[in-house]
Amino acid sequence: MDKGAFHYVDMFFVQCGYERRSLYRERSKYLETCLSDGSARLLFVYDRKVGLHRAGAGFEIALVDSELVPRGRREALQEVYLGEYVGRPVFAILCDEHPESLLSLTAEAMLFFDLRQATAMLSPHAASLLGYALAMDYWHRTHRFCGRCGHRTESGCAGHTLSCTNPECGRKHFPRTDPAVIVLVQNEGACLLGRKREWIDRRYSTIAGFVEPGETPEQAVFREVYEETGTEVGKIRYYAAQPWPFPGSLMLGYYAYAEPGVVALHDNELQDARWFTREEIAEWVPSGRLRLPGRISIAYRLLQRWFDRGAIKPLDQLNPDAP
Ligand SMILES: [Zn+2]
Repeated sequence: MDKGAFHYVDMFFVQCGYERRSLYRERSKYLETCLSDGSARLLFVYDRKVGLHRAGAGFEIALVDSELVPRGRREALQEVYLGEYVGRPVFAILCDEHPESLLSLTAEAMLFFDLRQATAMLSPHAASLLGYALAMDYWHRTHRFCGRCGHRTESGCAGHTLSCTNPECGRKHFPRTDPAVIVLVQNEGACLLGRKREWIDRRYSTIAGFVEPGETPEQAVFREVYEETGTEVGKIRYYAAQPWPFPGSLMLGYYAYAEPGVVALHDNELQDARWFTREEIAEWVPSGRLRLPGRISIAYRLLQRWFDRGAIKPLDQLNPDAP
């Protein structure tokens, strides 16, 4: 039993449906056997997109039996052992070129999609595994050279380490994930939401930002909300975390409390921030005057839990067709 499974909460990109089997990463003979005898399956990441195929009204991961990719061809590819999925070992292949020629596939058999767009049409299990693969792809692409001495790195531990090839340095780099806080600031009947300039019109979301060195997540919550909205919060409570592979964050979800007051956009990161009452949300979401964060995000979940506690109609029903 993989202990990661205990952290399953019903939220996209949280590890579920696969086991990491991290202790197998060092067992190179076992992994090579799985790849050559065809018991392993491969999924593909190319151009920051994931390989899918159509299944009914939605999509599934396009999983390819490893024996279909001869060893000679695989040597040029970057493989990452992800663990076990649906009873079989699974590897992510991180492609620099479209894998069509490598696999002799028709374009229909593997379609590359932006995972953020495709997630709502995938099972949580599939989205979780693909999010993991996408985050590993980002880490590999941004660590091709050693951050200490600038020499090339090479992959080890089944794709889970990148070691500097300069013998005088030899630094080992490990996959990283950047902690960020995301917080719903609320009062009894209202919550504080902000919007960034680059977002689509009328879209507002919870306040978020990266945790800085030397800071606890709770301190980051206080600082970010103050910087972005001029609001001082208290009663900061942790809710849950969501790995967010766009490109590689761990979103730590919080609730906090503040008295509604005048908002001041101190750091100019937001274009606007304001308090919304439940009544305004209930009226403005169906009419299109207010757009909420996507349902796959912890931002939506934070908002939903708060909203549904005191609303006549659940948030999901205000705009059932929204992604
Ligand atoms: Zn180095």
